[in-house]
Amino acid sequence: MPIKTCQIDCKMKTSKFGTFKRVVIKVGSALLLDKHGEFNNVWLDNLSSEITSLKKSGTEILIVSSGAVAIGCNILKKSKSQMSLNEMQAAAAMGQAQLVMEWQDSFKSKNINVAQILLTRADTENKKRFLNSKDTLSSLLDYDVIPVINENDTVATDELKFGDNDRLAARVAQMAMADLLILLSDVDGLYDSDPKKNKNALHIPTIDKISNEIINMAGKNTSNYGSGGMVTKLQAAKIATQAGCATIISNGTHEKPLSSIIQGGKCSYFSVDSNSILTRKQWLAGYLDVSGSFKIDHGAQRALYEGGSLLPVGLMDVEGDFERGDIIRIMNDDDQEIGRGLTAYSSEEAEKIKGCQSDNIIKKLGYKNKSELIHRDNMALFQSKV
Ligand code: GLU
Repeated sequence: MPIKTCQIDCKMKTSKFGTFKRVVIKVGSALLLDKHGEFNNVWLDNLSSEITSLKKSGTEILIVSSGAVAIGCNILKKSKSQMSLNEMQAAAAMGQAQLVMEWQDSFKSKNINVAQILLTRADTENKKRFLNSKDTLSSLLDYDVIPVINENDTVATDELKFGDNDRLAARVAQMAMADLLILLSDVDGLYDSDPKKNKNALHIPTIDKISNEIINMAGKNTSNYGSGGMVTKLQAAKIATQAGCATIISNGTHEKPLSSIIQGGKCSYFSVDSNSILTRKQWLAGYLDVSGSFKIDHGAQRALYEGGSLLPVGLMDVEGDFERGDIIRIMNDDDQEIGRGLTAYSSEEAEKIKGCQSDNIIKKLGYKNKSELIHRDNMALFQSKV
């Protein structure tokens, strides 16, 4: 699908708000349910209309939505404090069904399909599961569907839990290679002290680096500072910006929360961290645990430098014993390493499809994971020309 663009201009610092193609929007429980526990359908319909407009202008959207536990508690007429972990997980299972239905209903009138994705931390940390989840998200976006993602609360035990959907949203942004993460909460962003306690607290509109000084601003004010807490929001911003995804923390309680950002409303903008990981591909380049190598021909090398993916047709040799999702060296025909990437095929499969046209993969294997051995999004080249 051709990716068009969305322009988010911010009166505060227009230059910081470039062109965003893929945006993850995190919505907290407190925005979806009012203080009586009633579902806030009017607010959700406004948000889904705004999202529809962004989609029409070509922006791809992924939603990370909390609310399962809160809705489940309402159905059971119990508060979280009255429940054990298992009871809360049961509440989440009940609430999740309604939660995704509300999103579905709201987008139905706009002719947009949504899909439910439930993730645990292991899905973002285990290579194979990461790649599977990433591929599914990418297929949904290709189908023009909005993924509505939540933590898989019913299976995530304490150690498996992300603990909060801010960090889950940051991992999703990393996985989906989004360029913008928007954390909608009940605060206008970062202040140098708690604005609820100090009316002179200074709002920080743009943050270029999440330094210890910045972390300390939130550290002092965790208690009543938004639903997930400012500390976890900053941790999320750090994960996302280090993965090449800018982050906005904004107040979602406005009637039209996204328009408020676009029109230059108060929010905090965290720019991509250029010092730690320059691009989201750099972790690939620096990854030490390399499992094997693909030797490729000159034509394939040229295609890679022109921005293409590595196709089986250009593969000359396979070295090593590896699985799908492992990191592989890409060697040219002079035996020089020119880059690294995540392979979509195991060494055994790659050996079988070596030199074959992508259309013939099914004939050789009896199935097809992908047309590419290594998709260009999953590849880091060490230099940009031959
Ligand atoms: N996964 C939880 C839920 O849907 C929310 C966690 C959070 O808000 O950070 O209720």
